[in-house]
Amino acid sequence: MKILNFGSCNLDYVYTLDHIVAPGETESTDSFDLFPGGKGLNQSIAAAKAGAKVYHAGCLGRDGEPLREIMTQGGVDLSYLRNVDLPNGHAVIQVSRKGENSIFLFAGSNNAVTEAQVDAVLENFSEGDFLLLQNEINLVPYLVKKGHEKGMQIVLNPSPFNEKIAEIDFSCLSYLILNEVEAREISEGSDPDECLGILGKRYPSLKVVLTLGTRGCRYRDGNESLYHPAFRVSAVDTTAAGDTFTGYFLAALADGLSPSEGLRRASAASALAVSRMGAAPSIPYKEEVLAALPDLKPLREHTDPMEEKRKLILDYLESNLKDASLEGLADRLGYSPAYTGNYVKTCCSLPFSKLLQKVRCSVAAKLLAETSESVEEIIYRVGYQNESFFRKVFRERYGVTPLAYRKKMRGDLS
Ligand code: ADP
Repeated sequence: MKILNFGSCNLDYVYTLDHIVAPGETESTDSFDLFPGGKGLNQSIAAAKAGAKVYHAGCLGRDGEPLREIMTQGGVDLSYLRNVDLPNGHAVIQVSRKGENSIFLFAGSNNAVTEAQVDAVLENFSEGDFLLLQNEINLVPYLVKKGHEKGMQIVLNPSPFNEKIAEIDFSCLSYLILNEVEAREISEGSDPDECLGILGKRYPSLKVVLTLGTRGCRYRDGNESLYHPAFRVSAVDTTAAGDTFTGYFLAALADGLSPSEGLRRASAASALAVSRMGAAPSIPYKEEVLAALPDLKPLREHTDPMEEKRKLILDYLESNLKDASLEGLADRLGYSPAYTGNYVKTCCSLPFSKLLQKVRCSVAAKLLAETSESVEEIIYRVGYQNESFFRKVFRERYGVTPLAYRKKMRGDLS
């Protein structure tokens, strides 16, 4: 499957100064660097270095030629990059000796995309191909609409977050890859779980990848919920961590790998990127990532946040086997019952009622194996009113009747 990244490419003018220039003040400096930048450029280079076939489309300004060279070297196909007679998009960045920075962006060529250009480029792609987008060019809502009409899988990295994101029709997206700040802005949730829950409810078919810096990343679609920790490295520059992650994750999907392998590779690639200075030049090649993976260790202090939530839910169910209810759990968690229902599905991959059955059955199984209480007593203890229902559910889960299960377990033990 092909990847088309319709996105920005920037020139970053970086000046190091004694202090950030205040209004009315003039400062001089001899320290000047020019770097390639822009989320579009970084993500195209990341996906290409990850081994994917990537086409970068967009507009290149009069002074943008060095960017063409850098992307070509990175392995990006620029057949659909259009030259425009405008200054290239750029950022002017002041960095103080204390490490503070102050940035302004000039969109320039990045805002020169036309509908005719979009239509012509999309002609070369077909159903199933990936269309990757960020929020640094004009016409993103149009691209989403047209890409969706063609049946492309649209992957949005809603970054930087601003009011223009609200113009995008999220129901046309296949993947949303975002960081915690963007997730809060878009969902209006407060913690990662709540954000994922809200997004899942609003857009049931959307696959969401949420990156959490040193706390790793989460993935969620209608049926699956995954977590991957960040890898332990000595971080020197976190610029482009998210771009490296996005490019690598998408390259893995385009290569037919599972989301879980995508998270693993993307986490490794972005860990290597943060251990090096710079943006695009810090993005590792696939061979480096695969070679580093066996030695990378997860940042263990950050355990799977879902695991903690799962424990909370299971604790509640186990200690309230007879009268557990969604309302009771909602009360315990401090959420509304509707939100709690969603939350249980996210954390435990089962609706509340099915999860309760599962917990009741497993407690019953434990009692059958470890005590000599009668089946009737056990049924009562775990909260079933209807004996035949319990026997049916138990059989479905364990493949045998409760008594046969007891015999089998005791037999196995003796
Ligand atoms: P963004 O750069 O968009 O804010 P994040 O900060 O969430 O994105 O980082 C993206 C991914 O990069 C994280 O999920 C993690 O895998 C990796 N990462 C970021 N910072 C570090 C770090 N200090 N050490 C190791 N990995 C990191």
